[in-house]
Amino acid sequence: MNEIVINLHMHTTYSDGHVSHAEIAKAALHTGLDAVIVTDHNVWVNGPEDYYKDGKRRVLLLVGEEIHDQARIPQKSHLLVFGAGRELATLAWDIPRLLTEVRRAGGLAFIAHPKDPAAPAVGEGDISWEDWQVQGYTGIELWNSMSEFKSLLKSKLLAIHYAFNPERIAHGPDPEVLSKWDELLVSGQRVVAIGGSDAHAIPARLGPIHRTLFPYEFHFRCINTHLLSPQPLNGELEHDRRLILDALAQGRAFVGYDLPASTRGFRFTAQGLEKTVTMGEEISAQKGVTLQIRLPRPSEICLIKNGQKIKTWQKHETCAFITSDPGAYRVETYINFLGKRRGWIFSNPIYII
Ligand SMILES: [Zn+2]
Ligand SMILES: [Zn+2]
Repeated sequence: MNEIVINLHMHTTYSDGHVSHAEIAKAALHTGLDAVIVTDHNVWVNGPEDYYKDGKRRVLLLVGEEIHDQARIPQKSHLLVFGAGRELATLAWDIPRLLTEVRRAGGLAFIAHPKDPAAPAVGEGDISWEDWQVQGYTGIELWNSMSEFKSLLKSKLLAIHYAFNPERIAHGPDPEVLSKWDELLVSGQRVVAIGGSDAHAIPARLGPIHRTLFPYEFHFRCINTHLLSPQPLNGELEHDRRLILDALAQGRAFVGYDLPASTRGFRFTAQGLEKTVTMGEEISAQKGVTLQIRLPRPSEICLIKNGQKIKTWQKHETCAFITSDPGAYRVETYINFLGKRRGWIFSNPIYII
Protein backbone atom coordinates (compact mmCIF):
# COMPACT_ATOMS: atom_id res chain seq x y z
CA MET A 1 0.00 0.00 0.00
CA ASN A 2 1.16 3.53 -0.77
CA GLU A 3 0.81 6.16 1.93
CA ILE A 4 -0.56 9.57 0.95
CA VAL A 5 -0.35 12.31 3.58
CA ILE A 6 -3.03 14.95 3.25
CA ASN A 7 -4.16 17.92 5.26
CA LEU A 8 -7.81 18.74 4.86
CA HIS A 9 -10.41 21.25 5.93
CA MET A 10 -9.03 24.77 5.50
CA HIS A 11 -10.19 28.18 4.39
CA THR A 12 -8.97 30.83 1.96
CA THR A 13 -9.91 34.44 1.37
CA TYR A 14 -12.99 33.12 -0.47
CA SER A 15 -14.47 32.67 3.02
CA ASP A 16 -12.85 33.51 6.37
CA GLY A 17 -9.29 32.32 5.71
CA HIS A 18 -6.51 34.81 5.11
CA VAL A 19 -4.50 33.49 2.16
CA SER A 20 -5.04 32.31 -1.41
CA HIS A 21 -5.09 28.77 -2.81
CA ALA A 22 -1.61 29.32 -4.31
CA GLU A 23 -0.20 30.34 -0.92
CA ILE A 24 -1.72 27.25 0.69
CA ALA A 25 -0.06 25.11 -2.00
CA LYS A 26 3.27 26.82 -1.28
CA ALA A 27 2.96 26.07 2.46
CA ALA A 28 2.04 22.46 1.66
CA LEU A 29 5.10 22.14 -0.60
CA HIS A 30 7.35 23.44 2.21
CA THR A 31 5.99 20.93 4.70
CA GLY A 32 6.21 17.93 2.38
CA LEU A 33 2.51 17.04 2.19
CA ASP A 34 1.23 15.00 -0.75
CA ALA A 35 -2.14 16.76 -0.98
CA VAL A 36 -4.47 19.28 0.64
CA ILE A 37 -8.24 19.71 0.42
CA VAL A 38 -9.43 23.31 0.68
CA THR A 39 -12.99 23.72 1.97
CA ASP A 40 -14.31 27.27 2.03
CA HIS A 41 -17.59 28.04 3.77
CA ASN A 42 -20.54 27.69 1.43
CA VAL A 43 -18.61 28.26 -1.76
CA TRP A 44 -17.15 25.66 -4.11
CA VAL A 45 -14.31 27.46 -5.82
CA ASN A 46 -14.03 26.05 -9.32
CA GLY A 47 -10.58 26.58 -10.83
CA PRO A 48 -7.61 26.22 -8.47
CA GLU A 49 -7.76 22.43 -8.25
CA ASP A 50 -4.42 21.26 -9.68
CA TYR A 51 -0.89 20.11 -9.01
CA TYR A 52 1.41 22.87 -7.76
CA LYS A 53 5.15 22.48 -8.19
CA ASP A 54 8.42 23.72 -6.75
CA GLY A 55 11.42 22.22 -8.52
CA LYS A 56 10.98 18.46 -8.28
CA ARG A 57 8.42 18.62 -5.52
CA ARG A 58 4.70 18.66 -6.22
CA VAL A 59 1.53 18.85 -4.17
CA LEU A 60 -2.04 18.18 -5.21
CA LEU A 61 -4.56 20.83 -4.18
CA LEU A 62 -8.16 19.64 -4.25
CA VAL A 63 -11.19 21.83 -3.66
CA GLY A 64 -14.16 20.76 -1.58
CA GLU A 65 -16.57 22.83 0.46
CA GLU A 66 -17.75 23.27 4.05
CA ILE A 67 -21.51 23.71 4.00
CA HIS A 68 -23.87 24.94 6.69
CA ASP A 69 -27.21 26.72 6.84
CA GLN A 70 -26.40 30.40 7.36
CA ALA A 71 -30.03 31.18 8.22
CA ARG A 72 -29.88 28.84 11.21
CA ILE A 73 -29.10 30.53 14.55
CA PRO A 74 -26.67 29.48 15.96
CA GLN A 75 -24.96 28.33 12.77
CA LYS A 76 -24.37 24.71 13.79
CA SER A 77 -23.95 21.44 11.86
CA HIS A 78 -21.15 22.03 9.36
CA LEU A 79 -20.62 19.42 6.67
CA LEU A 80 -17.42 18.85 4.70
CA VAL A 81 -18.02 17.85 1.09
CA PHE A 82 -15.22 16.41 -1.05
CA GLY A 83 -15.23 15.46 -4.71
CA ALA A 84 -18.76 16.56 -5.65
CA GLY A 85 -17.39 18.86 -8.36
CA ARG A 86 -20.29 21.28 -8.11
CA GLU A 87 -21.80 23.90 -5.84
CA LEU A 88 -24.16 22.34 -3.27
CA ALA A 89 -24.45 25.06 -0.60
CA THR A 90 -27.91 26.02 -1.88
CA LEU A 91 -29.15 22.81 -0.21
CA ALA A 92 -27.67 23.67 3.21
CA TRP A 93 -31.14 24.13 4.73
CA ASP A 94 -32.10 20.49 4.00
CA ILE A 95 -29.32 18.17 5.24
CA PRO A 96 -30.90 14.84 4.12
CA ARG A 97 -31.36 16.21 0.61
CA LEU A 98 -27.89 17.71 0.64
CA LEU A 99 -26.43 14.30 1.55
CA THR A 100 -28.40 12.65 -1.27
CA GLU A 101 -27.14 15.20 -3.78
CA VAL A 102 -23.54 14.82 -2.58
CA ARG A 103 -23.77 11.07 -3.26
CA ARG A 104 -25.47 11.64 -6.61
CA ALA A 105 -22.60 13.95 -7.60
CA GLY A 106 -20.08 11.23 -6.69
CA GLY A 107 -18.88 13.14 -3.64
CA LEU A 108 -18.27 12.30 0.00
CA ALA A 109 -19.70 14.03 3.07
CA PHE A 110 -18.00 14.21 6.48
CA ILE A 111 -19.46 15.75 9.62
CA ALA A 112 -17.12 18.65 10.47
CA HIS A 113 -16.02 19.32 14.07
CA PRO A 114 -18.76 17.16 15.68
CA LYS A 115 -18.10 18.91 18.98
CA ASP A 116 -17.06 22.54 18.73
CA PRO A 117 -17.80 24.08 22.13
CA ALA A 118 -18.55 27.71 22.90
CA ALA A 119 -15.62 29.83 24.06
CA PRO A 120 -17.26 32.84 25.77
CA ALA A 121 -13.85 34.27 26.77
CA VAL A 122 -13.20 35.05 23.10
CA GLY A 123 -16.81 35.51 22.02
CA GLU A 124 -17.12 32.26 20.05
CA GLY A 125 -20.34 30.23 20.03
CA ASP A 126 -20.97 26.49 19.96
CA ILE A 127 -21.09 25.19 16.38
CA SER A 128 -21.22 21.46 17.08
CA TRP A 129 -23.09 18.97 14.87
CA GLU A 130 -26.73 18.63 15.97
CA ASP A 131 -28.30 16.44 13.33
CA TRP A 132 -27.19 12.92 14.29
CA GLN A 133 -30.43 11.39 13.00
CA VAL A 134 -29.36 11.87 9.36
CA GLN A 135 -27.83 9.07 7.34
CA GLY A 136 -25.75 8.78 4.23
CA TYR A 137 -22.56 10.56 5.28
CA THR A 138 -19.19 8.87 4.85
CA GLY A 139 -17.66 9.78 8.17
CA ILE A 140 -16.76 12.31 10.81
CA GLU A 141 -13.90 14.69 11.49
CA LEU A 142 -12.69 12.91 14.60
CA TRP A 143 -9.97 15.40 15.47
CA ASN A 144 -10.21 19.09 14.52
CA SER A 145 -7.32 21.36 15.54
CA MET A 146 -9.35 24.52 15.98
CA SER A 147 -12.17 22.87 17.97
CA GLU A 148 -9.56 21.58 20.38
CA PHE A 149 -8.09 25.08 20.65
CA LYS A 150 -11.57 26.46 21.40
CA SER A 151 -12.14 23.82 24.08
CA LEU A 152 -9.07 25.12 25.97
CA LEU A 153 -10.10 28.78 26.02
CA LYS A 154 -11.47 28.99 29.55
CA SER A 155 -10.19 32.56 29.99
CA LYS A 156 -8.65 35.39 27.95
CA LEU A 157 -5.27 34.61 29.52
CA LEU A 158 -5.43 30.97 28.43
CA ALA A 159 -6.48 32.12 24.96
CA ILE A 160 -3.29 34.19 24.72
CA HIS A 161 -1.16 31.37 26.16
CA TYR A 162 -2.37 28.80 23.61
CA ALA A 163 -2.50 31.24 20.70
CA PHE A 164 1.19 32.01 21.21
CA ASN A 165 2.19 28.42 22.10
CA PRO A 166 0.15 26.45 19.57
CA GLU A 167 2.36 23.36 19.90
CA ARG A 168 0.89 22.89 23.39
CA ILE A 169 -2.72 22.62 22.14
CA ALA A 170 -3.14 19.10 20.74
CA HIS A 171 -3.90 16.34 23.24
CA GLY A 172 -6.25 14.13 21.24
CA PRO A 173 -9.76 13.91 19.83
CA ASP A 174 -12.52 15.10 22.14
CA PRO A 175 -13.59 12.12 24.33
CA GLU A 176 -17.27 12.79 23.51
CA VAL A 177 -16.53 12.61 19.79
CA LEU A 178 -14.57 9.39 20.27
CA SER A 179 -17.44 7.78 22.17
CA LYS A 180 -20.00 9.02 19.62
CA TRP A 181 -17.89 7.40 16.89
CA ASP A 182 -17.74 4.13 18.85
CA GLU A 183 -21.49 4.27 19.43
CA LEU A 184 -22.08 4.59 15.68
CA LEU A 185 -19.63 1.75 14.94
CA VAL A 186 -21.28 -0.54 17.52
CA SER A 187 -24.67 0.19 15.92
CA GLY A 188 -23.27 -1.35 12.75
CA GLN A 189 -22.71 1.88 10.82
CA ARG A 190 -19.44 2.17 8.90
CA VAL A 191 -18.12 5.61 9.79
CA VAL A 192 -14.76 6.81 8.47
CA ALA A 193 -12.68 9.02 10.77
CA ILE A 194 -10.55 11.85 9.42
CA GLY A 195 -8.49 14.57 11.06
CA GLY A 196 -8.77 18.19 9.96
CA SER A 197 -6.85 21.37 10.61
CA ASP A 198 -9.61 23.95 9.96
CA ALA A 199 -6.77 26.32 9.10
CA HIS A 200 -7.61 30.01 8.71
CA ALA A 201 -4.30 31.78 9.55
CA ILE A 202 -5.74 34.44 11.83
CA PRO A 203 -4.01 37.83 12.00
CA ALA A 204 -3.73 38.87 15.66
CA ARG A 205 -2.43 41.79 17.69
CA LEU A 206 -1.34 41.82 21.27
CA GLY A 207 -0.13 45.33 22.14
CA PRO A 208 2.80 46.01 19.83
CA ILE A 209 3.04 42.38 18.68
CA HIS A 210 1.51 41.51 15.32
CA ARG A 211 1.43 37.88 14.48
CA THR A 212 -0.38 35.32 12.35
CA LEU A 213 -1.95 32.73 14.63
CA PHE A 214 -1.80 29.16 13.38
CA PRO A 215 -0.19 29.71 9.97
CA TYR A 216 -0.94 26.99 7.44
CA GLU A 217 2.58 25.59 7.63
CA PHE A 218 2.11 24.99 11.35
CA HIS A 219 -1.18 23.15 10.76
CA PHE A 220 0.38 21.07 7.99
CA ARG A 221 2.90 19.70 10.51
CA CYS A 222 0.20 18.75 13.02
CA ILE A 223 -3.01 16.81 12.46
CA ASN A 224 -2.96 15.08 9.09
CA THR A 225 -5.02 12.33 7.52
CA HIS A 226 -2.84 9.53 6.17
CA LEU A 227 -4.39 7.49 3.37
CA LEU A 228 -3.41 4.09 2.02
CA SER A 229 -3.79 3.44 -1.67
CA PRO A 230 -3.09 0.30 -3.71
CA GLN A 231 -1.62 2.56 -6.41
CA PRO A 232 0.79 5.50 -5.98
CA LEU A 233 -0.07 9.05 -7.01
CA ASN A 234 1.17 9.53 -10.58
CA GLY A 235 0.90 13.30 -10.99
CA GLU A 236 -2.30 13.27 -13.06
CA LEU A 237 -5.07 15.31 -11.48
CA GLU A 238 -8.04 13.06 -12.37
CA HIS A 239 -6.26 9.82 -11.51
CA ASP A 240 -4.90 11.06 -8.21
CA ARG A 241 -8.15 12.72 -7.14
CA ARG A 242 -9.81 9.30 -7.65
CA LEU A 243 -7.21 7.50 -5.50
CA ILE A 244 -7.67 10.00 -2.67
CA LEU A 245 -11.48 9.89 -2.78
CA ASP A 246 -11.45 6.07 -2.92
CA ALA A 247 -9.23 5.83 0.17
CA LEU A 248 -11.42 8.35 2.03
CA ALA A 249 -14.61 6.54 1.01
CA GLN A 250 -13.29 3.20 2.17
CA GLY A 251 -11.61 4.49 5.33
CA ARG A 252 -8.18 3.20 4.34
CA ALA A 253 -6.84 5.92 6.60
CA PHE A 254 -5.57 6.99 9.98
CA VAL A 255 -5.35 10.31 11.74
CA GLY A 256 -1.79 11.21 12.70
CA TYR A 257 -0.53 14.03 14.91
CA ASP A 258 2.77 14.53 13.11
CA LEU A 259 4.31 17.29 15.26
CA PRO A 260 5.82 15.17 18.09
CA ALA A 261 7.09 12.60 15.56
CA SER A 262 6.05 11.68 12.03
CA THR A 263 3.32 9.04 11.96
CA ARG A 264 4.29 7.99 8.42
CA GLY A 265 4.70 4.22 8.32
CA PHE A 266 1.98 3.28 10.81
CA ARG A 267 0.16 0.15 9.68
CA PHE A 268 -2.76 -1.82 11.09
CA THR A 269 -3.62 -5.03 9.25
CA ALA A 270 -5.55 -8.25 9.75
CA GLN A 271 -4.45 -11.59 8.36
CA GLY A 272 -7.01 -14.33 7.87
CA LEU A 273 -6.70 -17.68 6.21
CA GLU A 274 -7.15 -16.35 2.70
CA LYS A 275 -6.40 -12.67 2.74
CA THR A 276 -4.86 -9.68 4.49
CA VAL A 277 -6.85 -6.50 4.92
CA THR A 278 -6.14 -3.03 6.23
CA MET A 279 -8.08 -0.23 7.92
CA GLY A 280 -11.55 0.36 6.49
CA GLU A 281 -11.79 -3.17 5.15
CA GLU A 282 -13.52 -6.31 6.42
CA ILE A 283 -12.45 -9.90 7.00
CA SER A 284 -14.18 -13.07 8.11
CA ALA A 285 -13.69 -14.20 11.72
CA GLN A 286 -13.74 -17.83 10.69
CA LYS A 287 -10.64 -19.79 11.72
CA GLY A 288 -9.19 -16.75 13.46
CA VAL A 289 -7.61 -13.47 12.47
CA THR A 290 -4.23 -12.03 13.45
CA LEU A 291 -4.27 -8.29 13.96
CA GLN A 292 -0.89 -6.66 13.48
CA ILE A 293 0.12 -3.15 14.45
CA ARG A 294 3.34 -1.46 13.34
CA LEU A 295 4.50 1.97 14.46
CA PRO A 296 7.27 4.23 13.13
CA ARG A 297 8.75 4.28 16.67
CA PRO A 298 7.94 2.70 20.05
CA SER A 299 4.95 4.14 21.84
CA GLU A 300 1.90 3.26 23.91
CA ILE A 301 -0.61 1.28 21.84
CA CYS A 302 -4.27 0.58 22.70
CA LEU A 303 -6.42 -1.91 20.82
CA ILE A 304 -10.12 -1.09 20.97
CA LYS A 305 -12.96 -3.43 20.03
CA ASN A 306 -16.49 -2.03 19.73
CA GLY A 307 -15.53 0.94 21.89
CA GLN A 308 -13.89 -1.14 24.66
CA LYS A 309 -10.15 -1.15 25.26
CA ILE A 310 -9.11 -4.82 25.11
CA LYS A 311 -5.31 -4.58 25.25
CA THR A 312 -2.54 -2.04 25.90
CA TRP A 313 1.13 -2.33 25.05
CA GLN A 314 3.73 0.10 26.46
CA LYS A 315 6.74 1.23 24.43
CA HIS A 316 6.08 -1.19 21.59
CA GLU A 317 6.87 -0.72 17.93
CA THR A 318 5.08 -3.84 16.68
CA CYS A 319 2.47 -6.07 18.26
CA ALA A 320 -0.02 -8.75 17.33
CA PHE A 321 -3.35 -9.97 18.66
CA ILE A 322 -5.21 -13.14 17.65
CA THR A 323 -8.99 -13.19 17.73
CA SER A 324 -12.03 -14.93 16.29
CA ASP A 325 -14.53 -12.45 17.73
CA PRO A 326 -16.40 -10.26 15.25
CA GLY A 327 -16.35 -6.52 15.87
CA ALA A 328 -14.96 -3.15 14.82
CA TYR A 329 -11.30 -3.09 15.89
CA ARG A 330 -9.34 0.14 15.98
CA VAL A 331 -6.02 1.39 17.36
CA GLU A 332 -5.06 4.46 19.38
CA THR A 333 -1.46 5.31 20.19
CA TYR A 334 -0.08 7.89 22.61
CA ILE A 335 3.21 9.75 22.80
CA ASN A 336 4.88 12.00 25.38
CA PHE A 337 5.44 15.50 24.05
CA LEU A 338 6.13 18.78 25.90
CA GLY A 339 5.62 17.10 29.27
CA LYS A 340 2.27 15.50 28.49
CA ARG A 341 0.83 12.24 27.19
CA ARG A 342 -0.82 13.11 23.91
CA GLY A 343 -2.82 11.28 21.26
CA TRP A 344 -0.56 10.37 18.34
CA ILE A 345 -2.31 7.96 15.96
CA PHE A 346 -6.01 7.07 15.63
CA SER A 347 -6.69 4.34 13.09
CA ASN A 348 -9.87 3.59 11.23
CA PRO A 349 -11.42 0.25 12.15
CA ILE A 350 -10.89 -3.13 10.64
CA TYR A 351 -14.25 -4.89 10.57
CA ILE A 352 -14.11 -8.55 11.56
CA ILE A 353 -17.41 -10.13 10.51
ZN1 LIG B 1 -16.90 24.73 10.51
ZN1 LIG C 1 -13.88 25.18 8.79
